[in-house]
Amino acid sequence: MDQEKHTEHYYTCLSLMQQKFDRCKREDRFLAESVEEFTVWKKRVRDLLTELTGQRNMIPCEALPVDEGEEKTKDGILRKKFRIQTEPGVYMPCYLLIPEDKKLNKTNKKPLTFLALPGHLGGGKESVAGKRDRPDIVKAIEQFHYDYGYQLALQGYTVFCPDCRGFGERREEALWGEEEEKYLNGTCYNLSHMAEALGETVIGMLSWDISRLVDFIEQQGIYDMEQLGCIGFSGGGMQTLWSAAQDDRIKRCVISGYMYGYRDSLLELNGNCNCNYVPHLFEHLDMGDIGALIAPRQVVIQSCRKDHLNGRRGLTNVYEQVDTMKKAYRLFGREDFLFHDIQEGGHCWHEEALLPILNEDCNQG
Ligand SMILES: [Zn+2]
Repeated sequence: MDQEKHTEHYYTCLSLMQQKFDRCKREDRFLAESVEEFTVWKKRVRDLLTELTGQRNMIPCEALPVDEGEEKTKDGILRKKFRIQTEPGVYMPCYLLIPEDKKLNKTNKKPLTFLALPGHLGGGKESVAGKRDRPDIVKAIEQFHYDYGYQLALQGYTVFCPDCRGFGERREEALWGEEEEKYLNGTCYNLSHMAEALGETVIGMLSWDISRLVDFIEQQGIYDMEQLGCIGFSGGGMQTLWSAAQDDRIKRCVISGYMYGYRDSLLELNGNCNCNYVPHLFEHLDMGDIGALIAPRQVVIQSCRKDHLNGRRGLTNVYEQVDTMKKAYRLFGREDFLFHDIQEGGHCWHEEALLPILNEDCNQG
């Protein structure tokens, strides 16, 4: 039987919020017309992001690495597990994938190394590192091609696959448990509730942790830092974008399924996960401005034509942001270091994203 209709009108806030978005001048957006202006802008915007994300509240600490065992996969990849401390009492578990036949930097002979960061609905590092020992992880790998860390290792790269806060072994208590809906999901909602009232944000925590993992990799002294790469899809793309924007030690990166204008994709599509939202960010910057901070390092942006997260204008909402990034690369005469890979279909990682940056090995090594 049909429910009796009780609501004749819905009085929503969206239209006014869009007007407020449009009224913002975004005075910190990318407008530089020379490398010198870019350098000044980059410093100012990085300070701004440190402030907005609450990273000034983060507490430096010793990494205190702990080994947690290793196994050999059927493809001959050594999958080591370890954890480091990223803030006092906050631990980041991580897989390290070491191929038998490692690709090396031709000059320093150190292993070419990538970070592969997890997005939502993949059980954190498990799917990225190709741990196919649960049916729900296998399903996530097949749906989103989530095992991009493992795929890179199969090509000879050394790959770090960390859990980000709220996922995998780092779920808050709300999602402890082995059931699929708990195991695959993350607790960004709970983290953001704790964080924002303390002046912090989820993305601030995530990109802080990635930089601590880069500290750890650098301190080992055995990995190639000259071409250190970072890749990620969806929420992993978000982490890659912010980490590369804030940390110059990331020399090349792939951001898949995460480049679009905030108005359509995060204001109008306001059901997105809490980890996307940073208080006051829309007043200062759009996503392409954050991407512009990566110039002139190598970057691949991968977008799928039917990805619903692009918003109702589809790729138009993507091109506008990529164009902002292109202007930054043009200042350096390095437009060839920004590659926009368009794929068909919906929200999904496609391995073609890797081709433009992996092909550069021979030029740089
Ligand atoms: Zn999230």
